[in-house]
Amino acid sequence: MTKNRYTRLNAIKEFGYDITWDDLKRYHIGIVGVGGLGCVSAEMAARCGIGKLSLFDFDTVDIVNLNRSMFKEKHIGQSKVKIASKILKKINPDVEVYNFENDIMNPNFESDFEKEISHMDIVLNGLDNIPAREYLNAKCVRLRVPYIDAGASRSGLSGYVHPVIPYKTACAKCMSIIAIDIPDERGDPCVASLPSTMAILASIQIQEMLKYLLKFGEMIDYLMYDMITGKFLNYETKRDKNCPICGIKSQNNKKLMKPKISRGEIDDLIDKLKE
Ligand SMILES: [Zn+2]
Repeated sequence: MTKNRYTRLNAIKEFGYDITWDDLKRYHIGIVGVGGLGCVSAEMAARCGIGKLSLFDFDTVDIVNLNRSMFKEKHIGQSKVKIASKILKKINPDVEVYNFENDIMNPNFESDFEKEISHMDIVLNGLDNIPAREYLNAKCVRLRVPYIDAGASRSGLSGYVHPVIPYKTACAKCMSIIAIDIPDERGDPCVASLPSTMAILASIQIQEMLKYLLKFGEMIDYLMYDMITGKFLNYETKRDKNCPICGIKSQNNKKLMKPKISRGEIDDLIDKLKE
């Protein structure tokens, strides 16, 4: 076998998994938010040989971002997407990287954003605030683009990963009641961030993306991770028929969703993580 940069990926076949890694070249993914999650997921997607990678982030590199992967001191003040795309092209020149230095919630960018993501094979969330995550969830669901939601808690010590297959599995809004410790509703970004927690969550996003695109294995449902106890908990989700985004009446329903699971059930889940 001729050796190339994907030789070790292709070697997984020898363990009985009929995965055609070369197929990754055919796919176009979007990573929205190039911070603690997005930097890690973008680098891994590039190293695996994804065909096209679009990065969205309006922000510039700040000194507080240096505890995450990829950025260096010399990048402070420069566009996150421009720096990230330069680095990614050096990591793997096979990958086509596109930059969008835009706020996805800016109304002037809305139609371009919809146009861009509507032809993507999957979108990964790397955003750090609830309003932007809900906006992205709504766009992906309504445009029927598979979406892998993820987020760390405000403490940076726990988090979740949740793949959303529009109109088939629960969307992020169906599950929003469970996400109790992630950045608050005013849109304030995270206050604490631990690169290792972010890397774990981003790695799981990439694992799920690979399984979805290359059609092998079983997708997770809603995975919670707690660093303090070292536990992972897989929560079984169901679509909420009253969900304002993906529910049956979603097109006319302007009311807020009712919680799909009770507060008691959430407390039980948290207790299980801490056991
Ligand atoms: Zn929903």
